[in-house]
Amino acid sequence: METVQTALFATVDVQQNDSLTNDFLRRLLINGSMKTNTILIISLLLFACPAPSQDKPIYLLNPSFEGMPAAGTLNSPMLFGWQNCGQEGETPPDVHAKPKNGNSLFGVTQEPFHGNTFLGMVVRDNNTWESISQKLEHPLQPGKCYELSIYLCRSKQYQSLSRLTNNPMNLATPATLRLWAGRQPCAREEILASSPLITNTHWVKYRFEFEVHDVYSCLTFEAFYETPDDLYNGNLLLDNISPLMVIESCAPLRRFEFSDTLMGTEWRILLFAKKDSLARAAAGTAFWRVKTIEQSMSDYLEDSEVSRLSATAGSKKWVKVSGDLWQVLSYGQAVAQKTKGAFDLSAGAFTKLWRKAFRQKEFPSKEEIEAARRTVDYRKIRLRQKDRSVRLDLPGTRLDLGALAKGYAADEAMKSLWQQGIQVALVDGGGDILAGSPPPGETGWLIGFTILEKGEPVAQPVRIASRAVATSGATYRYLQWEGKRYSHIIDPRTGLGLTNRCLATVTASSCMEADAWATAVSVSFNEELKDWLLARKIAVSFFEE
Ligand code: AMP
Ligand code: MG
Repeated sequence: METVQTALFATVDVQQNDSLTNDFLRRLLINGSMKTNTILIISLLLFACPAPSQDKPIYLLNPSFEGMPAAGTLNSPMLFGWQNCGQEGETPPDVHAKPKNGNSLFGVTQEPFHGNTFLGMVVRDNNTWESISQKLEHPLQPGKCYELSIYLCRSKQYQSLSRLTNNPMNLATPATLRLWAGRQPCAREEILASSPLITNTHWVKYRFEFEVHDVYSCLTFEAFYETPDDLYNGNLLLDNISPLMVIESCAPLRRFEFSDTLMGTEWRILLFAKKDSLARAAAGTAFWRVKTIEQSMSDYLEDSEVSRLSATAGSKKWVKVSGDLWQVLSYGQAVAQKTKGAFDLSAGAFTKLWRKAFRQKEFPSKEEIEAARRTVDYRKIRLRQKDRSVRLDLPGTRLDLGALAKGYAADEAMKSLWQQGIQVALVDGGGDILAGSPPPGETGWLIGFTILEKGEPVAQPVRIASRAVATSGATYRYLQWEGKRYSHIIDPRTGLGLTNRCLATVTASSCMEADAWATAVSVSFNEELKDWLLARKIAVSFFEE
C-alpha cells in the first residue's frame, strides 16, 4: 500500500519539477522503493530548486529497459514505461539479462551495459520490425534542437524461427535503429534520426541530434531493415537511453561528395550531413549495396547470380533467385511485354557479339547474328511468382540486365542512405541520376538534362528533387562501319545496333523505371507509348535526327 502511494506522489511531482530532482525521483520510482523520510527530503529538495520554465530535459521512463528477463510472447506484459508497437500477430521485443550458468535467451551473450537487463529487438524475413514507444513527460517543440544518446550493439547469435518457413534460424544480420516522433504512442509521423547499420557486437554509444517540425508527445524506437530479400533476419540490442536534452542549435548540414568505380562506371554520391564520420559511413554502406547488386546482376562476372542463371538456360530447371534479381527481372519483363520485345533482357548473346565487334572494330558475321538470334526471346523467360523462381526455356539464352540494373542499384543506394538518416542526397550511377530531398535553401539538385542538338548531346541545367533521370541513345557508344554508326543498344528484331541518331532522356520516380525506359524508347517509340508512360508519371523527352 505504502509503495503505491509513494509511486503516485512521485509521478505527480516528477511532472512538475526541475530536471535533476526529476531524474532522482524517477530512479527511485523505477527501483520501486521509497520510504516516508525520503519523501520528506525530496519535498524539501523540490522546494529548494525552482524549475526553469523552458528547455527542461525530457526523462524517459525506464530508459535502461529494466524488468524481468524473458522472451517476448504474444500475451507477455511489456516492460514498465514502454508500449509494444509491433505488427499484429508478432511477438514483442525480448528482455535480456546477463547469461546465467551458460544459459542465455536465443543465444545472446552480451551483458547489460547498464542495470540488470537490456532490450533485444528483431527484424524478420516477413518484413516486420519490432518497435516500442512511450509518451513523453512533456512534448517535443518545433524550433528546438534535441540531443539523445543510446547504447546499441548486435548479437552474433539470435536463434529463433523464420517467420516464413518456421525453420530454426539465426537472426543475426545487422539492422538500424530509427527514431520516430508522433502524437500518439507508436505513431510514426516524423522520422527524427536513423543510425547506421549496427554491426558492432560490443556496446557503442550512438548520439543523435534532431529538430521536429510539429509538436509531438511520443517517441518510438524501431529496429529496421528493409530489403526485397526474404532471407533477411536481424537483431538490435538496446540499453541506457539518455534523457532528451535541449541543446543550443543543431549542427549545420555540410556538403560531401564520394565516388567509386562500380558496375563498370563511375558512381558519385553527393549528400548533406552534419558530420564527416556519418557522411563517410553512409556513403560507404550505400556503395556496398551497389556492389552486392553488381555481384548479383553483372553478366561480366562469371560467378554472378545472373550468369549462373543463364548457365541453366534450356535445362528446364526452375531457379530460385534473390529478391534483388526478382525485382529487376519482373520489371524488365513488364517493359519487354509493353514494347513487344524491342526491350529484351534475353538479348545477351547479341550484346556479347556486339561488344566483341566494338573491341575488334569488326562487323559481326551473318552466321554469328543468326546463331545469337536463336537464343533471344523475352517470352521464353518464365517467372514463377509463388517461389520467386525463373526458368529460361531457350538453350543458350544469356540474360543482360545492363539496361536497368544501374537504375535499380541507384534506387537501392538511395534507400540505404535514407535508412541511415540521410535524405538530402543525390546518387549518380554513371549518368543514371536519382535525387533525394533538395539541398538546404534550394528547390532541387542542379543536374545536366541531356538533349540532342545538331546531332550532339548537350546538357541543359535543371533542378530536380525526389526524382530520377536517365539518358540513353545511339549517340554515345557506337561502331563506325561502312559509313554507318552502330550503337551499343541493339534492336532485337534485326540483331543489329541502332543506326538512327536518337537520344531519350526519361524522368520517373524510380531510377530503375527511368533507366529501363530510356533504353526501351531508344529502340522503339511512338506517341501512344509516350501517353501511356505519362499516365504512369514517366516522362520521355525523345530526340531523333
Ligand atoms: P543503357 O545504357 O541503360 O541504355 O543500357 C544499354 C545496355 O542495355 C547495353 O549495353 C546492353 O547491355 C543492354 N541492351 C542493349 N540493347 C538492349 C535491348 N534492346 N533491350 C534490353 N537491353 C539492351
Ligand atoms: Mg537504360
